[in-house]
Amino acid sequence: MASPLRSLAYLLPQLWRALKEGPHTVKYPFDPVELPAGYRGRVIIRAENCRGCSMCVRDCPAFALELEREGRDAYRLIYHPERCAYCGQCELSCNFDAISLSNEFVPGKPDRKDLGVVLVNKEG
Ligand code: SF4
Ligand code: SF4
Repeated sequence: MASPLRSLAYLLPQLWRALKEGPHTVKYPFDPVELPAGYRGRVIIRAENCRGCSMCVRDCPAFALELEREGRDAYRLIYHPERCAYCGQCELSCNFDAISLSNEFVPGKPDRKDLGVVLVNKEG
């Protein structure tokens, strides 16, 4: 176990640096956060490109995408961010440039079952 003197010798310079340089954290969500290039955030859709082929659903390893089909032409593509692994496989699997990962966080909700998002709601 570290002695109190050794702990102080470590902490005091850190404290001095923090006081001198100011906080290194941001007040998210009250201030914007600058995310690094290539950050893999929530899944977004260009609905006009989607054909309902379900390749993204088939290849999603986390079962985070769901396609509900109603008849031949009508379907709903649903995204479950609480299951998403942010792997980007859906983007790679889509042949129509419809689905991709954005540079944004998933907004939080008090109940995880309310996180689901209907990405495409195509009526027949
Ligand atoms: S990023 Fe990965 S886990 Fe998330 S929906 Fe796409 S394929 Fe599924
Ligand atoms: S997002 Fe792409 S892969 Fe997924 S259903 Fe639409 S067209 Fe098919």
